[in-house]
Amino acid sequence: MPDPQKAQSEDRQLGAKLVEPLCARLCVIGIGLIGSSILHAAKRRRLAAEIIAYDASADVCARAAEIGLADRIVTSLEEAAAADIIVLCIPVGAMESVGSALGPYLKSGTIVSDVGSVKGAVIAALQPHLPDGVSLIPAHPVAGTEYSGPDAGFATLFVGRWCIITPPVSADPAATEKMCALWSAMGSDVEIMTPAHHDLVLAITSHVPHLIAYNIVGTAADLEEVTQSEVIKFSAGGFRDFTRIAASDPTMWRDVFLNNKEAVLEILGRFNEDLAALQRMIRWGDGQGLFDLFTRTRAIRRSIIAQGQETNAADFGRRVGNDPTQ
Ligand code: NAP
Repeated sequence: MPDPQKAQSEDRQLGAKLVEPLCARLCVIGIGLIGSSILHAAKRRRLAAEIIAYDASADVCARAAEIGLADRIVTSLEEAAAADIIVLCIPVGAMESVGSALGPYLKSGTIVSDVGSVKGAVIAALQPHLPDGVSLIPAHPVAGTEYSGPDAGFATLFVGRWCIITPPVSADPAATEKMCALWSAMGSDVEIMTPAHHDLVLAITSHVPHLIAYNIVGTAADLEEVTQSEVIKFSAGGFRDFTRIAASDPTMWRDVFLNNKEAVLEILGRFNEDLAALQRMIRWGDGQGLFDLFTRTRAIRRSIIAQGQETNAADFGRRVGNDPTQ
């Protein structure tokens, strides 16, 4: 049963409705957190005259139909290919196989896009399979939660969050413009970058922080002198925030590290050097050095809040519902 109050609140957050749909048919492939969020937003905004969706899993398709995520759930990639804009919302490691299976059915004039967290590797995986006349306009919404699957999505996930578009040099400007309009209509702030620059920026802002969280939670789980129940019981001291990040989808993050190897290793090298410097400061009792660094890092947190990318609510990881922006 649709909740009119929820719908009103979503409409308010998403902003003005489009005068007319951006295309005749929009297709989302992969109905997980990101795919279902696009479907919710696209339906609310009526971004296409028809919105269709496909997933490799029959259970996911059945659940998507039950929730009413799309006008039509299709059961083959051939049917999925008959769309004007196709957005691949699947793990980065699945792009190659889906791209090659989809390629033969694509018609000239179609825009193929994706939401993968890595861009260089996704372009390399998809481009060879796209026939002439099909535009590849990759995108990465910098928004998410630690939840997965068709029930995890919500219409306002992208509101006030950046979406980075990384068109290849040869991309058709009209197709790039259309993808920018699509993301703007879902509430995102859009920025255009080269794929290589995107991969380096995201390595420092997202990929390496996730690796650090996975590592620290793994270290705590392996400690012999501290029991697991103590780790859970006394988790307030910063650890709990790491556990939220370390609960992120294992498939997605395995693929991110395997496909953004170079940039992640580059940033990790610098991180290790800086960690060694911190280790020295502690060993030699360099309180001033520690104080100066912590003062600088506090300023970065303040500018993130000032730019509206986070609130200063003292929630320490205790979120309301599954929307990290609440
Ligand atoms: P998700 O919730 O796990 O959803 C992925 C969906 O794709 C699942 O339903 C999965 O089905 C399906 N799938 C997997 N292989 C497929 C295939 N070969 N053909 C069709 N469907 C297939 O993942 P997500 O969080 O939405 O992530 C999707 C993409 O968004 C990833 O590339 C990720 O890098 C990117 N991204 C994620 C976030 C985030 O915070 N989660 C943020 C920005 C971008 P099964 O479950 O049956 O495998």
